[in-house]
Amino acid sequence: MFSPGKINHFHSQLLNWFARQKREMPWRKNLDPYRILVSEFMLQQTQVKTVIPYFNKWMRSFPTVKRLAAAKESDVLKHWEGLGYYSRARNLLRSAIQIQNDHSGKVPDTFQEMMRLPGVGRYTAGAVLSIAFDQKVPVLDGNVKRVLSRLMLLNENGSNKKSETRLWETMESLLPDKSCGDFNQAFMELGATVCLPQNPLCEECPLKKLCKAKLSGKQELYPPKKTAAKISKIKVSAAVIFRKGHVYIQKRKGKGLMGGLWEFPGGKREAGETEEECLRREIKEELGVNIRIGEKIVTHRHSYTRFRVTLDVFQCRIHSGKLSPTECDEWKWVKPEELDQFPFPAANVKIIKLLNKNT
Ligand code: SF4
Repeated sequence: MFSPGKINHFHSQLLNWFARQKREMPWRKNLDPYRILVSEFMLQQTQVKTVIPYFNKWMRSFPTVKRLAAAKESDVLKHWEGLGYYSRARNLLRSAIQIQNDHSGKVPDTFQEMMRLPGVGRYTAGAVLSIAFDQKVPVLDGNVKRVLSRLMLLNENGSNKKSETRLWETMESLLPDKSCGDFNQAFMELGATVCLPQNPLCEECPLKKLCKAKLSGKQELYPPKKTAAKISKIKVSAAVIFRKGHVYIQKRKGKGLMGGLWEFPGGKREAGETEEECLRREIKEELGVNIRIGEKIVTHRHSYTRFRVTLDVFQCRIHSGKLSPTECDEWKWVKPEELDQFPFPAANVKIIKLLNKNT
């Protein structure tokens, strides 16, 4: 920890740097707690530059808690389309309904009430309370962990509960009495723009005279590396089934991965299956019909955090059997040009663009 003299210097160095260098972001235009809450949901696992256009569009459609609470889930998911981790969108909608019903539309300003909102964990609660209400509450994300580990030469990367707790405690011990929201944002901003994972820009850093890693030349050794998570490879076949100028789409079941989004039917290839065999089996199991498979439309590769998906998409027609979908909440036949009215996962959006180009 820093001595009392050093901690004041540390606070002023960091806060002055933030006042000069902070990047413009639309949610920084004012401290409306609802805008901060939306931005923090969107920023979980997602970079600032990706979030900005989504945030702006969101605020045009759902400028207040009340407007969001009254929105349809499909409309909310459509606004989230392409941002990934769709449970965040469903939780944000549920949080808005809870805020509207239980708090008269005002984002709550206590830690306990914030933590009761769906999808809000310690990080999001800390960010909203400190930034919107200037409360003395810490945040801890990947950027903060890296800066903390280097600054204090902590042998921690937050990969287990004990390490995570130690980092939260350290961050808490460093908080100033005032301007906590700026302090937390400054820490995150420093990690995102200066204290980079590789080649940190120490000469530009406002903390270079206080940073234990810089002073001992050990920046590259901190934080200690995490064991790399195993990445699985998944092969999926999907069918765009045509009938009289319409295509078949179905809505994924509400609670699972990408729940509430629409998709083309299909599924994972089993060992020893060809792309076409997989598709015939999946469609028979899911829709109860036999299909005739036509041309391949596209092979699309998509990366998620823990797996890589190769998606082979085929044009198909129903050959025999009675359509009786069982693995979805809803299904429809729609014209290709109507497809972009529905929220789809990112990989399906690319297929739709291709279909609309070629029809
Ligand atoms: S001096 Fe270097 S290692 Fe230390 S906090 Fe600043 S950028 Fe990171």
